Amino acid sequence: MGRATPIAKIAIASPLRSLFDYRLPDVFSGDADATVGLRVQVPFGRRQVIGVVVAIADHSAVATDKLRTIEVFIDQQPLLPAPLLELFLWAARYYQHPLGDALFRALPSLLRRGDALPDLRQTHWQLTDKGRGLAPNALAKAPRQRALIDRLLGEQAVDDAALAAQFSRAIIRLLESRELIAAHQVDASAATHPNPQVLRETPLVLGAEQQRAMAQIELTGFRCWLLNGITGSGKTEIYLQCIEQVLTAGRQALVLIPEISLTPQTKRRFTERFAVPLVVLHSGMTDKQRLAAWTRARNGEARIVLGTRSAIFTPLAAPGLIVVDEEQDGSYKQQDGFRYSARDLAVMRAQRENTPIILGSATPSLESLYNCELGRYSALYLNARAGSAKPADWQVVDMRDQSAPEGIASTTLEAIEQTLKRSEQVLVFLNRRGFAPAVLCHSCGWVAECRDCDARMTLHRGRNRIICHHCDKQLPPPQHCPSCRSTQLVATGEGTERSELLLQKQFPKVQVLRVDRDSTQVRGHMQQVFDTANSGVPCILIGTQMLAKGHHFDRVTLVVVVDGDGGLLSPDFRAGERMGQLLTQVAGRSGRSDLPGRVLLQTHQPDHPSLVLLLEQGYGAFAEQLLAHRKTQQLPPYRHLTLIRAESKDPQRAEKFLRIARQSAAELLPPTPQLGYLGPLPALMERRAGRYRYVLRIEAEQRTTLHQLLSRLMPVLERHQDPRHLRWSVDVDAQEL
Ligand code: ADP
Ligand code: ZN
Ligand code: ZN
Repeated sequence: MGRATPIAKIAIASPLRSLFDYRLPDVFSGDADATVGLRVQVPFGRRQVIGVVVAIADHSAVATDKLRTIEVFIDQQPLLPAPLLELFLWAARYYQHPLGDALFRALPSLLRRGDALPDLRQTHWQLTDKGRGLAPNALAKAPRQRALIDRLLGEQAVDDAALAAQFSRAIIRLLESRELIAAHQVDASAATHPNPQVLRETPLVLGAEQQRAMAQIELTGFRCWLLNGITGSGKTEIYLQCIEQVLTAGRQALVLIPEISLTPQTKRRFTERFAVPLVVLHSGMTDKQRLAAWTRARNGEARIVLGTRSAIFTPLAAPGLIVVDEEQDGSYKQQDGFRYSARDLAVMRAQRENTPIILGSATPSLESLYNCELGRYSALYLNARAGSAKPADWQVVDMRDQSAPEGIASTTLEAIEQTLKRSEQVLVFLNRRGFAPAVLCHSCGWVAECRDCDARMTLHRGRNRIICHHCDKQLPPPQHCPSCRSTQLVATGEGTERSELLLQKQFPKVQVLRVDRDSTQVRGHMQQVFDTANSGVPCILIGTQMLAKGHHFDRVTLVVVVDGDGGLLSPDFRAGERMGQLLTQVAGRSGRSDLPGRVLLQTHQPDHPSLVLLLEQGYGAFAEQLLAHRKTQQLPPYRHLTLIRAESKDPQRAEKFLRIARQSAAELLPPTPQLGYLGPLPALMERRAGRYRYVLRIEAEQRTTLHQLLSRLMPVLERHQDPRHLRWSVDVDAQEL
């Protein structure tokens, strides 16, 4: 018997959980491990597919003579650096998602298809020795050729594009063929060379608190810092100064932000500060742009990588720091397909890359606060606003003794008027787009509901439609009640369109600018809103949470929360946390420069204890109380929660599948005080887009228990699936119930 042939374990883009075994061609037999991370093309059934070698094994469960051989290697170098490939392996196991699918979803689509990495090296032209030695009067009869030689005489090298702009290709090629000039490829990547010239502008002088935080942060080796600083306290300045050190040391920084709409603002701040190449990665890019940015990050040319959720999978040649801004933001959780948390993966990645990571927030998630308590993360605090700005003043508007037919109380309107009179700006927050969230019949009480969801239709006056916000079904608004034929239909409740209309009527002389998912459909609308707001003219901004996140408007001094009751009544145990975060974020939009800020919160429950605590003692105390509650209730972060979801047009199928799931799970690991099963239960919205949705909750004290269970349960569930009638998924660390 000879030595065992090395077997390559290959991940392919498919929903199948297994890896596939192939034989390596003989040339690799001495150096099989060098193939890990390479893309390959392999025969798969009757097709040819693209895969990635993820491991080498010395035997296979498949008989050696049945194994096929890898035919084509697409890459010369591993596509992903080893720590990133390991992160994928870990994430696929942790989130119980097929590795091939996770890997290929994260790759730029052109690479998924099997394209080669683009060659981003630049061509430069130089004189050869022969060219340099040319007599001054040579080429006298060829003035263009002479001119090109002269052009290169004074310089080390000239970029191809610059030369081609001055001289024709024919001349360049002619001189090259006569060996007077030569091309060479310059690798733009500076890999890990220390770079002393990273600054474009002088950094701000740090305030006392900022200095203290900065002095504590160590930028060598893995450590997770939670920068817990109120809005406007100068967290971004801390990121910038940490990044400066990392850049100077010749390393790269990866910065995650929650929203695409924040990219231009953040990018501007980074490029004003740093004279280094920066790339942006988000879902709004073309395939080619994405691939170019990805490649620049991978080869080390881009020193700063700025992106939304999926940018956590960007390969880096010399990682030095990861920053996750607004770490509590729900958009870091991918809610379908490969359901991962980019914030949690960022921490895992930093650990694998042995770099520090900073999670920043004015309203940290309970998970991160708990991790500080456990000593896993180190907390840094910024409790005062930077510069001369003061925290905003909260005031409650009790809606019970107010007349507010259009949802905005008269005292609120007065406050708006006063603010505008002082030539300042107002931000009105209402987390509901459209005109009105319900259309009902005044005569019989009929309500317009979605045919396919357990939800009401929202009236959109601008589009003249009633729209379901859960499945996007759209219909013309009814002219009469389908139940009693009455024409007395009323739109009840407030959406952003309605408030916009009311405010326009009340304040005809100022601009009312609306920002929500509808208004931003118009290209350039966001830019126009920002330009107007930044010009400083008195105006009213009205919008959903799109407007509440991270934006910085100097002249906003009054923030109005139209519906401060939302979140107090939801059955989702995270609703309170989200409400506290959102209200604090919104309030943080007010009084960001030297003008004092004020927040008016309209509510029907001014005495609600959570609300009182939040307003009187701030988010810190509020979060502490929530944590205490979660502890007594044994909810996350004290327990690890996984949901198995199933949906079907036939409610019984979905429920039955989860009953089998529960039974199988309990057979594998019976319930104990440390491991609980709950359900199947109907989802919070039981019917959506015509499908009935159920969930099975699995709660465990130990992650390891949960993962032992899940990895044994998945194959069982896969045997029971019925793809024509049922969809199911597993959501580890689920955020939505
Ligand atoms: P955060 O990220 O915590 O919301 P920022 O870093 O955006 O806060 O800072 C808020 C404002 O304060 C910005 O306009 C910023 O330029 C300014 N600022 C931050 N740090 C300082 C400082 N040390 N001195 C003066 N102004 C500062
Ligand atoms: Zn009716
Ligand atoms: Zn619907």
